This record gives sequence, structure tokens and C-alpha cells, in this order.
Amino acid sequence: MSEFGLIAQIAKRFASIDHHGWEAIGDDCTVLPIGDEALVITTDMLIEGVHFLRDKISPEELGRKSLAVNLSDVAAMGVRPVATLLSVALSKDATEEWAERFTAGYHALSEEYSVALVGGDTTSSECGIAINVVAIGRGPLANVKRRSAACVGDIVYVGGELGASARGLKDIFAGNDATPNAAIHRNQQAQVAEGEWLGSRAEVHAMMDLSDGLASDLCHILRASKCGAELYAEQIPAVDGDIESAVAGGEDYKLLFTVAETSAAQLESDFLAHFGRPIYRVGRIVESENHTIRWFSEGKEFSPDWKGFTHF
Ligand code: ADP
Ligand code: MG
Repeated sequence: MSEFGLIAQIAKRFASIDHHGWEAIGDDCTVLPIGDEALVITTDMLIEGVHFLRDKISPEELGRKSLAVNLSDVAAMGVRPVATLLSVALSKDATEEWAERFTAGYHALSEEYSVALVGGDTTSSECGIAINVVAIGRGPLANVKRRSAACVGDIVYVGGELGASARGLKDIFAGNDATPNAAIHRNQQAQVAEGEWLGSRAEVHAMMDLSDGLASDLCHILRASKCGAELYAEQIPAVDGDIESAVAGGEDYKLLFTVAETSAAQLESDFLAHFGRPIYRVGRIVESENHTIRWFSEGKEFSPDWKGFTHF
């Protein structure tokens, strides 16, 4: 069974149980409106051998990454992360020193964003280290961005350059641990401040974070918003000009969002003025019965064979 097949089956099975105000499965976080405010909650797991190799990432880096991938899902909702819960299953060969260094990395990033650690669980594992983080965000309900809010005519943006993480992973597998892309792969940065800032802008419609690659992740917005997209290959901000890694590589953790066309130029210049970095226009939301992406290169349509990253 595919990852998304299992999620769809779970969503269907549990749909009839009262949600007590929480939004249903399907977005980067679930949302609980409380008056004019919202709490958002997400969880992500990192498994040794699947998401990381212990000899290829330092414990500090893994601590930061475990938190960063969760902060990214909160940022993708347009609000600020405020607290996390951290659960760790340690295998017998994981030393106390490893655990301490892991915690130091998790703490350093928590401090950077002033995110409290308010709970968790600690246990042992028979087969490798497993880490689970729950992240909680809070902000004005009006700022919450959902995958379902893209409108036909919106401009599609990504919040930074894409593909460095996938290229870095290739470098690591090839034994080149010291390349700049390998360092990026081990030290993913969530766009936390950017997510909250974009959340406050009403012209930003749909938003999510890129964990599996643009080609795969954009389809979540398209299905949720019942629309399609045109993407322009030459506009993709591909690291080292490697478009396949940029489009189908995983773990970039940049924001993907759609913006009302009339406000797009203003948003671009305001973002640049605020963060000193650009956002990148990569396409446009269009009508589409089957919610697909149409790819163009210099005005000509083409059919790439790019697939998103999957853990299954
Ligand atoms: P992300 O990449 O943003 O972390 P995922 O692709 O992992 O999101 O998950 C997509 C949606 O499915 C999310 O809303 C997530 O909460 C939900 N989900 C994933 N796995 C499960 C599960 N085992 N049970 C319930 N919901 C799940
Ligand atoms: Mg996400």
C-alpha cells in the first residue's frame, strides 16, 4: 500500500467520529479555532535507516532536523510555532553521549525560535532510533493558510531555491560528506518567520511546505483546491541548474504558496524588503478537471517523468 493510500483509508474510517472542532486530516497541521485565534498541531517521525543514517548525520544535526521538519509544517499554516513534545526511542547501541548531543541540537533550535518543550516520551527500541515530534502553533485564525484555498488565476510561488537537499543526499551516498549541499541536507532550515509573515498577508491563498518535491506536493494543493496548475520550467529556482532534483527531490522545506495575481508584484517586493531574499514565481493556477500540473519550457508544453520523493 502507498503512503497516501493508507492515509486516505484512515481518513475515511475515522471521518464519522465527532471532530470536536478540529479540522480533518489532510493539511500540514490540523486546526482548532478558539474565538479569533487558532491552535495548529502536527506530528512527524524520523526513523533510523529511513530518514537518517546514524553515521551520516551528527546527533546535534539530527536534533535540529527533528524539530525543523515539524516547525516547517507549522510555518506552512501561516502561524508561529510555540511548543513541541518530543518522543525518543533509543536502541541499545545509542550512547548517553549520543542522546545528550541530540538533545543539545534540539534545544539550540528551540531556543532560536523560542519554542517551548512541554512533554514527550522516552523509551527503548530493538531496531534503531526512532524520533517523534509533535509541534503546536498559535496565531490569528484569519492568518491560517490551508491547502484548499488556491484560486484560478493565482500565481504559484516557492519560498527559496530547490534541490539542494536532494543533491546533498546524493553527495553523501557518493561519500562526499563535505559538500555545501550535503551540509544543507543535514541542516534543513524551516521558513518559520517567512510562514508567519505570509500568514499575515490576505493575498496569500493556499500554502504548504515542500517535503516530497514540488511535482508531488503541488498536487496536494491542486486536489484540495480542485484546480490545476501550469508550471514554467525555466522559472524554477533549481540549485546548480539541476531541475529534476529541484522538482522531484525531497526535504527542501521551502514554502509553496499561491497568491492573488493583482497583489503578487507588491508581495514580491515587500518580501524582498523584509527578508532580503526573493520569493520565486514558478507558475499559475488554472482550471483543470483532473487537478494536474501542465509543464511548459519556453512556452512549449512537455511531459516530464518526475516523481516526488516517497518514504514507502
Ligand atoms: P506532511 O508531509 O505535511 O507532514 P503528510 O504527507 O505526512 O504531511 O500527511 C498528509 C496528511 O495526512 C496530514 O494531514 C497528516 O496529518 C495526515 N496523516 C499522515 N499519516 C497519518 C496517519 N497515520 N493517521 C492520521 N493522519 C495521518
Ligand atoms: Mg508539510
